[in-house]
Parts: sequence; C-alpha cells; structure tokens
Amino acid sequence: MTHDPTCLFCRIVAGDIPANVIWQDDHTLVFADVHPQAPTHWLVIPKTHVQNLSAVDNLEMFAQVGHAIQAVTAAHNLTDYRTVTNNGAAAGQSVFHWHTHILAGRPLLWPPG
Ligand code: AMP
Repeated sequence: MTHDPTCLFCRIVAGDIPANVIWQDDHTLVFADVHPQAPTHWLVIPKTHVQNLSAVDNLEMFAQVGHAIQAVTAAHNLTDYRTVTNNGAAAGQSVFHWHTHILAGRPLLWPPG
C-alpha cells in the first residue's frame, strides 16, 4: 500500500488526522466531508495513494471503490444519490488523492455548476 505522508487523505487513512468514518474495508475508506454540500456528503477513497482517477493503473481498484459505494449506500438505505469525481485542478480537484464524492439528501440539480 502506497502512503504519501504529505497527502491529507493518506494521513486520514493512517489515523494521523481525525475523520468521521462511515464505512471501511481493507482497501477503501468512506468518511464524511468536512464541508458538506448536501445533508449526506461522503468521500470514498482507496487506502493506497493515487493522485486521481486518471492515475489509477489497476482495474481492481475501480472495483473496490465501486463495491464501497454500493456497500455504504445500501447500509444507509440510500437509493438516490450522486457520485462525483473531480479530476484535475481545473475540474475542481483540491485534494490530490483520488476520491469519489457521494451526495444525497436534497434535490440535486442537473447540469451541475
Ligand atoms: P475535491 O475538491 O473534489 O478535491 O474534494 C476535496 C474535498 O475534501 C472537499 O469537498 C473538502 O471539503 C474535503 N476535505 C478537505 N479536508 C478534509 C478533511 N480533513 N476531512 C474531510 N474532508 C475534507
């Protein structure tokens, strides 16, 4: 497992920075976003460091993250939710450890801003 000590989300995985953990398994962590944009706003991350979706180089990691999204939403009876990945600074990525936002609990407009 790759750990980058300068990465905020790696430090959350390591337990150096506190987080409200919603779900986890050996590969994936789901925790609450500190600046929620909806009543439910969680972040799904691989426990190993990878800077964004474009940098993922194994299919297993996509499956692990997809499984985590299914498992955490099912555990919380969430059927209607949005997943968002900002890939790159111009797309809104501010933390460079791949994460998928899960948003729910209010009407979600389309197209997004
Ligand atoms: P993005 O802009 O797509 O890279 O999303 C990064 C997200 O991380 C933002 O929604 C932030 O609110 C969230 N965030 C930043 N620091 C923390 C933290 N310590 N714990 C939980 N979420 C965080």
